[in-house]
Amino acid sequence: MSTFPHSIIIEEQGLRDGLQSEKILIPTEKKIEFANRLVEAGLRRIQLTAFVHPKFVPQMSDAEEVFAGVDKTKNVIFSALVLNMKGLERAIKAGATHLSISISASDTHSRKNTNMSLLEALKEFKDMVREAKKAQITVRGGIQCAFGCRYEGKIAKGHVLDLARQHIDLGVDELALADSTGMGNPLAMKEMMTNILAMTKDMPVILHLHDTEGKGLANMLAAMETGVSYFDTAFGGLGGCPFIKGATGNISTEDTTYMLSQMNIQTGIDIVKIAQISRELEGLLGKQLSGKMHHIILENS
Ligand code: ZN
Repeated sequence: MSTFPHSIIIEEQGLRDGLQSEKILIPTEKKIEFANRLVEAGLRRIQLTAFVHPKFVPQMSDAEEVFAGVDKTKNVIFSALVLNMKGLERAIKAGATHLSISISASDTHSRKNTNMSLLEALKEFKDMVREAKKAQITVRGGIQCAFGCRYEGKIAKGHVLDLARQHIDLGVDELALADSTGMGNPLAMKEMMTNILAMTKDMPVILHLHDTEGKGLANMLAAMETGVSYFDTAFGGLGGCPFIKGATGNISTEDTTYMLSQMNIQTGIDIVKIAQISRELEGLLGKQLSGKMHHIILENS
């Protein structure tokens, strides 16, 4: 008897987490085209971009244009990441209705990522969530480095649960935990997510997994067994936080979807259409992406 959910909701992160640390700038028109093709491939949640300082993340400097350019006539949640009040103001102006607002569980990562200590970031985070709610935006609250930090090592579970409690009390609509460094393991996933799901009740809980240490899909399965049914993935396995050394590769949309389809778990995603995007992007970036199935699927079709 399977203990896994019957269907999984995937949020595609390739255009944001995937592209953000790539030095070769992808033209705005291309990003918009990719987003529209992701919709065609069946994705219903897409993180499009980040409203962050263009000096620190040049690839995201066209956030407004990308946001304005995508086809919003389908029933798709287009989201974006914001890290500070300035970014939130830009996102509101751009007409965002769903935002990912996150803080890091690690003080050192927070300082490097946002120039704020965890305490300062927490204060800003609370102000941002309140402002976003005032603007009637659906807020996905996020905790980065929830399963470990390259600078600080293991992050205490109690600390993450405390941050999650603060998110819930603030009234976030969804809660995301990120294994930004890929340091999590299946046992840690099980323990953490069992605790988190007991706190969140009906609220959507999303896991954002990196495959840096090769445990991405194993971690996903462990979390699915606790009842988590929302996951972030990136086409081709693209991705990695520019501020975390060696944080390459989200779990690949194609690899994840393929495994789930073999397990008779629905995602509604057309893997061939995603693989075509990954292969085209490999050409644009001049490198091979770390996922597996985008090669195998196209070579066999
Ligand atoms: Zn990430």
